[in-house]
Amino acid sequence: MKKSATDPVCGMTVLPDSQLSAHHKRRTVYFCSEYCRDKFVEQPERYLPALVASGGDGDKARRRIAYFSMEVAVQSDMPIYSGGLGVLAGDMLKSCADLRLPLVAVSLLYRKGYFDQSLDASGGQKEAPVQWDVEKFVKPLSPVIELEIERRTVKVRAWQYDVAGQAGHSVPLILLDTDMEGNAPADRALVHHLYGGDQKYRLAQEVLLGIGGVKMLRALGYAGLQKYHMNEGHASLLVLELLGEGNWAVESPDFASVRNRCVFTTHTPVPAGHDHFGYDLLQKVLPARMPKSLLQMLGGREELNMTRLGFNLSRYVNGVAKRHGEVSREMFPGYAIHHITNGVHSATWTCDSFRRLFDRFLPGWSNDPSMLRHAVGIPREAVWAAHVEAKARLLALVRERSGVALDPQALTIVFARRATAYKRADLVFSDVARLRQIAKQHGRLQFVFAGKAHPKDLDGKKLIKRVVGVGKQMAGDVSVVYLQNYDMDLAKVLVSGADVWLNTPQRPLEASGTSGMKAAHNGVPSFSTLDGWWLEGYLEGLTGWAIGSSEAGQGDAAKVDRQDAEDLYRKLETALVPTFYERREHWIDVMRHAIALNASYFNTHRMVQEYATNAYLG
Ligand SMILES: *Cc1c(COP(=O)(O)O)cnc(C)c1O
Repeated sequence: MKKSATDPVCGMTVLPDSQLSAHHKRRTVYFCSEYCRDKFVEQPERYLPALVASGGDGDKARRRIAYFSMEVAVQSDMPIYSGGLGVLAGDMLKSCADLRLPLVAVSLLYRKGYFDQSLDASGGQKEAPVQWDVEKFVKPLSPVIELEIERRTVKVRAWQYDVAGQAGHSVPLILLDTDMEGNAPADRALVHHLYGGDQKYRLAQEVLLGIGGVKMLRALGYAGLQKYHMNEGHASLLVLELLGEGNWAVESPDFASVRNRCVFTTHTPVPAGHDHFGYDLLQKVLPARMPKSLLQMLGGREELNMTRLGFNLSRYVNGVAKRHGEVSREMFPGYAIHHITNGVHSATWTCDSFRRLFDRFLPGWSNDPSMLRHAVGIPREAVWAAHVEAKARLLALVRERSGVALDPQALTIVFARRATAYKRADLVFSDVARLRQIAKQHGRLQFVFAGKAHPKDLDGKKLIKRVVGVGKQMAGDVSVVYLQNYDMDLAKVLVSGADVWLNTPQRPLEASGTSGMKAAHNGVPSFSTLDGWWLEGYLEGLTGWAIGSSEAGQGDAAKVDRQDAEDLYRKLETALVPTFYERREHWIDVMRHAIALNASYFNTHRMVQEYATNAYLG
């Protein structure tokens, strides 16, 4: 049965009908008549309030789950995210809003964002703070709380962003802020940079998020919270606030009560990736009354491991893909670690042409993405036409930003993600002569790259230079373009305009990866090493193609790189290139399967439903 919707103009209950719908700010709105639709299209803002829940005190008291994340990507021009972790959090909140989950989220308001990236002619990265107009996006809230950081009293206020769902519900995102009068300059600067500064800066931000976040929710009147979800160890300190509520001297802390309320999601498959702090630093930064013995008991004798702290006081712990669950269990023996495979928010990551296609053939898909499994029945010509439109958009953007005119007929391979060593952006360039030869003998190839390196990640910066350098070397035979300043808007054009989505992480270092799921929503197949979500999503030659074996790449890294590169070239030569150029119908079948078998499952609607039943109700 189709779910009903409310016509925002007249208030009538209507059945979703793509003929009588309009899109506004990621949302599909349905109407009873053309009259109402026209009225809405003329003045959407006027009718919007009817679509968004009031957010009054009663609404706050009904919220049951608090979700904490160091970064959240809700829209591209709100620069409070860096990459995958933030996009996952943002997509999760959008699905919670669509599915009417009674959840409230907490993060920080980074006034200078992550950073703006520019590249010089040789691919050298330059970073600049992001300028953005905070007040345009968020509304101020009145409570001011006090928090002890480094023995100082820091004032904290908050701002609210409403993540609006498709059916009239919304999820409040509370953004903590210390940049206010009465605070010392160093404390005001605490919220300036995401993942900037040193260990002390990072720890102070984690005190703000975990301890400050719980206090702020109390001050705001969220009185009915039953679950606290930590999205990665940055939020783990919240367990201390729940445990002591400012009084940690109690004889026998009530661990069981805290554990019953907490859920922890880990995203990091390497030991060094887990946040950890020495006790000297902790004793300087954390509230004075916090006993060291308690911290040691919960998070480690020699240093405090934030993941362990979160694990020890959570009733439900999960990794973000099946393989990642296994890797996490090996890394932290003795803990019952489950997995809930990540997803992406379908309506957010489906480009206009595919959105129209799905509206036409699968009405209702955007709030029920499992319907995308019927994409196998969409006529091939219609799928191809939608893709041609998306690809033209990408090529136009490439031309506008780089001046390079790519060939609309050529097989276009896109690689866009954080520039960091394990992602191996340059794997495809291991053997330049071979790649050239494939392009000459078998069919034209062209590449688009994008991705930022963390300012302190020197290897990541080298990777960008290498890609840019090889691009110059191959000019004339294979075009290579590196686009600057990868963000959500650019990601959406890339994941939809590519012919193939390339992903070559070193196994098993990709916990999940989500960009390939975005690509699948636009009929773009993945060509990826068997790690993270792809182990669950790939069916060779049906939903895309695998690179290398599914075994964790043990031992000699250089040897694994060589083997993976060899397999990559072999598949390009024998499978991808000939299928793309000579067996177009089969290629389009792969596109349809990517939608039907991958997008229908690897979405945050399915993911949120798993969190609800396994983690929140458990
Ligand atoms: C989706 C996304 C990511 C995460 O992609 P991965 O495949 O996990 O690397 C990172 N950055 C941006 C801007 C994204 O949109």
